[in-house]
Amino acid sequence: MPPRRESEVLRSLLLSASRNEKLQQVASEAAPARALVDRFVAGERTEDAVRASAELQATGRLVTIDRLGEDTVEIAQAEATRDAYIALLGALDDAGLTAAAEVSVKLSAVGQALPGDGEKIALDFARAICEKAKEVGTTVTLDMEDHTTTDSTLGVARELRADFPWLGVVLQAYLRRTEADCRDLATAGSRVRLCKGAYREPETVAFTDRADIDKAYVRCAKILLQGDGYPMLATHDPRLIDIGEALAIRADRAPGSYEFQMLFGVRTDEQLRLAAEGHRMRVYVPYGDEWYGYLVRRLAERPANLTLLARALTSKG
Ligand SMILES: Cc1cc2nc3c(=O)[nH]c(=O)nc-3n(C[C@H](O)[C@H](O)[C@H](O)COP(=O)(O)OP(=O)(O)OC[C@H]3O[C@@H](n4cnc5c(N)ncnc54)[C@H](O)[C@@H]3O)c2cc1C
Repeated sequence: MPPRRESEVLRSLLLSASRNEKLQQVASEAAPARALVDRFVAGERTEDAVRASAELQATGRLVTIDRLGEDTVEIAQAEATRDAYIALLGALDDAGLTAAAEVSVKLSAVGQALPGDGEKIALDFARAICEKAKEVGTTVTLDMEDHTTTDSTLGVARELRADFPWLGVVLQAYLRRTEADCRDLATAGSRVRLCKGAYREPETVAFTDRADIDKAYVRCAKILLQGDGYPMLATHDPRLIDIGEALAIRADRAPGSYEFQMLFGVRTDEQLRLAAEGHRMRVYVPYGDEWYGYLVRRLAERPANLTLLARALTSKG
């Protein structure tokens, strides 16, 4: 593993690359990248997401499915994403999977960043997805993107919760504001996914030291677990999982009153262990052809993943 400072520099470079259009084009056209994509992405089609969900459910895991795509700059693309989610929810219903499979939505994929009334478009499109989710008996969680979108995303969530009280939102422990957001959202019925945070953020708004982020995660988890909502602890970090379990016991939480979440293809053994111990364990399953930004963030999270990248880029085919 590269020394910490070197790995922080790599992480920062990779996160800059996650929004580089030229690199995105090169990567998308490079056939060898396929194997790498396959490790973290369930496939490109609706059927792939449904099949992966069925397989995960067969091993006692719950699922949240993300239709890949972000930073949408055209309304037609936002409409296509909305329609893809609605079709996916229909397909999950047909397959009898909605009791254990929900969807995760990035508001930037449904128009949040469009000039002018982008936020309103995202609200309307997310509402359409929520209506379909309600019809088929499942839920939706709004992913959280970079800090410039936090207020907008929480505002959209607040509006949607008036009609869909089960709507989940994500809070990122690395943001300095998040402890206060946890306090606001630790209320009855409120589903909150707590993650460390995956974007490159300035020191002014976020903790950037890993130890500080971990400490912030513990403080936030404590607030959520002691509150009245439904915390969703999204992390692969073994220490934070142990602390989460201990905090849940200390807060007298019944097993079904919170859950752990991890990403498709990451620490699968640990996912199975937690599920076998009777924990609610949900896997975040991304699918679709717009995998570039997602993949680069996954590579940035773990220096060892860079070996996979090097192999993908140097292999032929
Ligand atoms: C279900 C879920 C939903 C998420 N939603 C969001 C969101 O909406 N917004 C957002 O900003 N972030 C989101 N994230 C990403 C999150 O913010 C972190 O970037 C990511 O989870 C890595 O942090 P960690 O807590 O696993 O700890 P880390 O300290 O990064 O990792 C701990 C250990 O887990 C393993 N590990 C972690 N990541 C990887 C990987 N990619 N490949 C292989 N091994 C790995 C390694 O063994 C590592 O040492 C989500 C994460 C999960 C699990």
